[in-house]
Amino acid sequence: MELMDKVTVLPGVGEKTAKLLKKLGVETVFDLLNHIPRDFIKYPPISSISEAGAAERGPVALKLSLVSEPSIIRTPRVNILKAMARESSSLALAGGGRAEGTGQGGMGEGSGISLKWYNMPFLKNVLHSGMTRVFYGKTVKGRDGLSMEHPRVFTAEEYAGIMEKMEPVYPLTEGISSKSIAKWVGKALEKKGIIADLLKEDEREALGLLGEEEAISSIHRPKDMEEWKKARKRLAFDEFLSFIINVQRLKDERGAAANSFPIGKTPIAESLKEKLPWKLTASQEKALSDVMGDLRGSTAMNRLIQGDVGSGKTIVAVLALLSVAENGFQGTMMAPTEVLAAQHAEKIRTLFRECSIPFPVYLLTGSLSLKEKREVKKKIASGEACIVLGTHALIQEDVYFPSLALAVTDEQHRFGVGQRKELSKRGGDLATGPHVLVMSATPIPRTLGLILYGDLDISVMEGRPTDRLPIKNCVIGPSKRQSAYKFIFNEIKSGHQAYIICPLVEPSESMQIENVPEYAEKLKAFFGQGVRIAVLHGRMPPKEKNAVMESFKRHEADILVSTTVVEVGVDVPNATVIMIEDAERFGLSTLHQIRGRVGRGDAQSYCIFVDTSPSAREKGQDMVKSENERLQLLVRTVDGFEIAEEDLKMRGPGDFFGIRQSGDMDFRIADIYGDADMLTKAASFVKGIKRERFTEIAGGLSVGNKGLALQL
Ligand code: ADP
Ligand code: MG
Repeated sequence: MELMDKVTVLPGVGEKTAKLLKKLGVETVFDLLNHIPRDFIKYPPISSISEAGAAERGPVALKLSLVSEPSIIRTPRVNILKAMARESSSLALAGGGRAEGTGQGGMGEGSGISLKWYNMPFLKNVLHSGMTRVFYGKTVKGRDGLSMEHPRVFTAEEYAGIMEKMEPVYPLTEGISSKSIAKWVGKALEKKGIIADLLKEDEREALGLLGEEEAISSIHRPKDMEEWKKARKRLAFDEFLSFIINVQRLKDERGAAANSFPIGKTPIAESLKEKLPWKLTASQEKALSDVMGDLRGSTAMNRLIQGDVGSGKTIVAVLALLSVAENGFQGTMMAPTEVLAAQHAEKIRTLFRECSIPFPVYLLTGSLSLKEKREVKKKIASGEACIVLGTHALIQEDVYFPSLALAVTDEQHRFGVGQRKELSKRGGDLATGPHVLVMSATPIPRTLGLILYGDLDISVMEGRPTDRLPIKNCVIGPSKRQSAYKFIFNEIKSGHQAYIICPLVEPSESMQIENVPEYAEKLKAFFGQGVRIAVLHGRMPPKEKNAVMESFKRHEADILVSTTVVEVGVDVPNATVIMIEDAERFGLSTLHQIRGRVGRGDAQSYCIFVDTSPSAREKGQDMVKSENERLQLLVRTVDGFEIAEEDLKMRGPGDFFGIRQSGDMDFRIADIYGDADMLTKAASFVKGIKRERFTEIAGGLSVGNKGLALQL
């Protein structure tokens, strides 16, 4: 077996399974080993109802007897299977005097618990009154006492077999279970010596890192969290190393390229600037003059505009694109999502129409029909299309710009260095290639920015257009959710819209975090018919996402329940409230980005962070303000850079599961804040090695089968 072999070399993987795995991006053994668990379940020892009720943290395992036949409650949207249970007597004995009183048969205070499953009516045939099982799930304290939602059910023997082991939870697709993936990974790991190491042993030791093979093995099947963390560090190092090497290579390849596309006079761009409905801010003026200086200078532009969300980066890029177009060249801007690309195109077209700018704006995205794509590509290839917006579709092989003078990437943190380079190469040679402008809303602490953007000049845009009212913020505990909904309802009644952000798409087994579909159901039940609720998440096909976003923009929905996919650049000025569930689980910078979805219009906007951490829960009804220090920082300041610096200080390594820190740079494993130590380590490692060694490692990266460092 070799790393690049198809997954079908693994026992038990046939063509049919291979097809399913392909949906997960897993085609080879290499891909399989890179398909890392997104979480682990460590089934805890069995506890008691009183313990669960008091602590209400994390999921618990309870040994319970059902005291009634499960019954189904039907609502228009969900049906709920409900059963009452009490602590089984054997546990009451085992637990000493604590569960006292449960033997009396009543459902007295502290002894009973209700179990609930949503849309799983078939369980009614499996569970019966009098049965004793181990139930594993999260407990919730409600008006009707303690309940457990969506518990997993085990026999006592089954539970004893899995207790205290780390069971990996993989990203899945229908028809593939975590268990099967774990089994195949195990098979792949049995074969020793197929995973090479990018680092030599002495280098590795000097850096204090695990070997690659050991790291890969432990990231899938760690003995404990300590082992897992060490493995993670090694893989984070690899990812940074590969990133830094790629940045360095890009810089080498590009050199101080001469300006092959000098831009002359730009009367049309200047007239657009005059006709804008508002004046550019001082920061925008400065960034624009940096850019125009580069476009007219002697060497090609390599510039990053780093500006907080809402600081108005787009118009700077538009003016640059227009300057290029009116000089007879082509310019293009790539955005990370179709929603964003389409929105840019639409806004720029409207702006051009209103200001009588005689340039058509083209859009190339994956969800266009083949015919439409062909048309746009033809216009690009003939040079007729001077301003082209799009997504990754722009960097397909058959896209060719004969006179590409400017390549812009918006929200650069969502792209790899490789993709930025691909875009710049659409016009041919890099060394004589276009001006490169990248825009990012992720304020990265300076020290890290210098490493991550080592090849770019940086323009920082501070502040935002002044006449905006600052967003009002608050942090609440779960007990205040209802008040928050009422607040949202009032905003909706006065004609505004709201976002509610939940971290996950699917119900998670091991964490008490909200997920989009279930949450939307709960909201529908709360608000009733009068409020229109739409749902958006990353798993939806791009076309569907666009459609949802467009319809939300047209105010065909009042509330958009979404994962963080809305985080990237989306602009719906009529939205005035954003409520972020499980806020304590996100990185501060991510929260700041998400919050930037509101405060884009003239009305006062609000951001509600829901802190669902155990301490916030414990505060119960009285809790108005969370004491979560990190979240309070967001209430205190709207300065993205200050937040990023704090993020770096406060984010301890460790809280990695469940939520990708998607507002930060989009690494697969590494987190620029939590793993800042690995980032600086990788940077100084690259600085310290000889030229030949650099070339050797870089070569290993592009071959891809030496070591598991991810390719960018
Ligand atoms: P970002 O930097 O996050 O990409 P955008 O470019 O999307 O921000 O700008 C945010 C909003 O501010 C847009 O609706 C844009 O039209 C508006 N805007 C940009 N510049 C100004 C300005 N100088 N004055 C008022 N509004 C502005
Ligand atoms: Mg933007």
